[in-house]
Amino acid sequence: MDFNFNFFKRDEKTNDKKSSNKKLITITNNVIDGIISYAKMHHPYEAILILEGKRKKSEIYINNLVIPPFAVHGPFYSGFLINELPFDLRYVGTAHSHPSGTSRPSIEDLNHFYGLVSIIICYPYNEMDVHAYNSNGKEIEYLRK
Ligand SMILES: [Zn+2]
Repeated sequence: MDFNFNFFKRDEKTNDKKSSNKKLITITNNVIDGIISYAKMHHPYEAILILEGKRKKSEIYINNLVIPPFAVHGPFYSGFLINELPFDLRYVGTAHSHPSGTSRPSIEDLNHFYGLVSIIICYPYNEMDVHAYNSNGKEIEYLRK
């Protein structure tokens, strides 16, 4: 069951190297606002969303949020559920909240990385609390429009 997921992850890392991490990430205002609202709504619990969009050669364009088809919040680490996400090319990553206030990805976050980008929004959930990371846990810049 985990095999497909692990294969997918390795594949993404290979692609990362080829394009030297220079993928441009664009996130729409609607998506940013949606992540902020969703995180606030579930505080003090962690919340997780799927990022939907388009992947191009040098750009990842994120323009929609999808609520995962399972319980999405609780006083537990939500990332283990990522193994249950379907493989879909429109799904470019996930966004989840850190009610603790730290924006850094945890070891579990990196072990359960899904797709190309992981967005972490930390308490108190303002625009500046929205951070994007690649599968190596390196923070990456994004454009908002
Ligand atoms: Zn996390």
